This record gives sequence, C-alpha cells and structure tokens, in this order.
Amino acid sequence: MSAPNKSYDPVEVEALKPEEIERMRDEALAAFASAGDLDELREAKTAHMGDRSPLALANREIGALPPQAKAEAGKRVGQARGAVNKAFGARMAALEAERDERVLVEEAVDVTLPYDRVPAGARHPLTTLMDRIADIFVGMGYEVAEGPEVEAEWFNFDALNFTPDHPARQMQDTFFVQGPEGTTGDESGVVLRTHTSPVQARSLLERKPPVYIVCPGRVYRTDELDATHTPVFHQVELLAVDEGLTMADLKGTIDHMVKELFGEQTTTRLRPHFFPFTEPSAEMDMQCYVCRGESVGNPDRPCRTCSSEGWIELGGCGMVNPKVLVACGVDPEKYSGFAFGFGIERMLMFRHNVEDMRDMVEGDVRFTRPFGSEI
Ligand SMILES: [Zn+2]
Repeated sequence: MSAPNKSYDPVEVEALKPEEIERMRDEALAAFASAGDLDELREAKTAHMGDRSPLALANREIGALPPQAKAEAGKRVGQARGAVNKAFGARMAALEAERDERVLVEEAVDVTLPYDRVPAGARHPLTTLMDRIADIFVGMGYEVAEGPEVEAEWFNFDALNFTPDHPARQMQDTFFVQGPEGTTGDESGVVLRTHTSPVQARSLLERKPPVYIVCPGRVYRTDELDATHTPVFHQVELLAVDEGLTMADLKGTIDHMVKELFGEQTTTRLRPHFFPFTEPSAEMDMQCYVCRGESVGNPDRPCRTCSSEGWIELGGCGMVNPKVLVACGVDPEKYSGFAFGFGIERMLMFRHNVEDMRDMVEGDVRFTRPFGSEI
C-alpha cells in the first residue's frame, strides 16, 4: 500500500508561498504600526487591504490551484488577512482615542474664563414704567392714544377751557414755537405741549363716545433742570367719556391703578382742587406704600418716602368740564367723563427712591442698570 500522495499538488504559485504571505502580512502590520495619524492609516489600508493590495491579488490566485493546495493556500491567506484586519482595527482604535484626547485638550473651553461682554441695550426706566401703566389700562379696555408734541395753542389751552389770561399761557411757563398772530391776539399760536391733556381734545374730535383712552407722552415746560424739575418730562393722561360716568368711577379707576402698581393694601384719597378742564377737580393722593401712614405723628419711625405725611401726591383729576365736551362736539347732556394725569418722573422718584431727577436725563448707565434690563 503506498503512502498518501503528499505531492498531490505539484502547482506552486509564487505569490502563495508561505514566506511570501508572511512577508505581505508583516509589511501590512509594519505599515499600520508606523501610521502616525488616521490619514496615514487610511493610505496604508488602501495599500495593504484594498482590491489591488498584494494579499488581495494573492487571494485571487487561489482559484487556479488544485483542491489540496487551494485549501492550504486559502487557510494561509485567510489567516494573514485576519491578522491584517485585526491589526488595522487595533491601530485605528488607538489613533482615534489619541485624536479624541488631543481634541479634548486642544479644543477645551474654560467656562470659568471671563468673556467679552457685549452689553445688551435696555429701555429707560421711565419708558418701562410708562408702558407698565399703559398696560394696566389696556387690560381694562382702554386704548393707547398719542398726539403731537408740537401742538396748536388751541388744543393745549383753549379747548381745555384755559382762559386767554390764564397764567400758564405766559412765556415763562410755556415754550412758544410761534406766538399768537395778529394784533387781536385771538389766533392760535404753536407751543410745545405743556401737558398730555390736548390728546383728550384730539381723541374726542376723532372718536365718537364712548371713549376710553390712555395717553403716555413727553411734555415741556420752561423749568430749569434741577433735582426736582426738568424742562422735558413725561405724563400719563387718562380720559373716559361715556353715559353715566361719575366721580365713583374715577375713584375706582385710580384705586385699581394704584393697587396694581403699589400693592393690594394701598388706598387713595381725593382732595378738592381746581383745573380749568375738569369740574369738579381734585388732587389725588395715595397712601404711602412704605410706612402705610404709620410715620404720621410718630417721630420714632420717620418715613423718607412721604416725609412722614402718610400720603403721596399723585396728580390731578376730575370730571371733564362740560365746556371741554362742548368744545369737542360731545353733548354734555348725554355724556359725562373723567380724566386724570400724573407725572412719570415723580412716580419713578417715589416708587424707586430716586432723589435727583437729573439722574434720569443724564444717560449714565450706572443709574439705569439697577432697574434691570427689562425690554
Ligand atoms: Zn411714608
């Protein structure tokens, strides 16, 4: 019996010799090991694992071998390719880990470092306070109305029942842009409005009652700028004209605004006064929201906000004078109305303990910053 034919396969392909396969494998491993980064590794992969790589070409030769040689060569090439794959995977993982570590260090952001702050703009506290007040009335169904700051003398004074010799018409109180023309003096000049009340007259001429408007705006008087005066300041004016309105509606409306701004416990009072455009007229006060009146006659507990008087003067109010209604074409037999107005600078002063009005106009951000950047 003859021994198995070991030399069954006489065909020897050069590329499939064990030492050749080993050489290919070792070259691939060396190339992967020397790849310094992922790009180099990618190149090495193409060279040693791609379709044109020596191992791939050798693999193709296997098909031409007789069965026994085919099996052996297949095993050799398969093992070599397995080793190359494994080495590639390991090197890839190592290089990726290295890259991630480097990125973490190089691209790290130190969140504790100070950054270049670009200060965001914010609205002036007077504007935010005015808007806040307007919002209270808008919530009650009022409409925001505006009028010109350069105003006809007629709207600023005549329509509001200021007599021709009223002291407010004097040059020392009012900025006249253009004086009354003609020798008779009965023609209307042009002024910088001294109050927001002309918007009342304008609104009544433009709308049919019922009219419910709130008018925040800038007004002008010939005052010197000092701690408590400024020639340009702001008012909020309110006007309601409807059937059957009374002083009780006026009082209730003021109460509501004051409670919204200063807290639920705050009360108000009216004191008789005189304004040409309201009849009867009153000054409105609110109870001091700091001491709630407890500083009155109590030297142990003085209050700076109300000067220990217990009350803070808010502004003027009253029932719209029927003469104003007639001047604006509204029938006073059918309609009545109330109006009130107050200064925003003064309210900002006592609401936020601002002691000098000049701080509000000088534009120093150190003044506005504590009010926050409400926009
Ligand atoms: Zn007080």
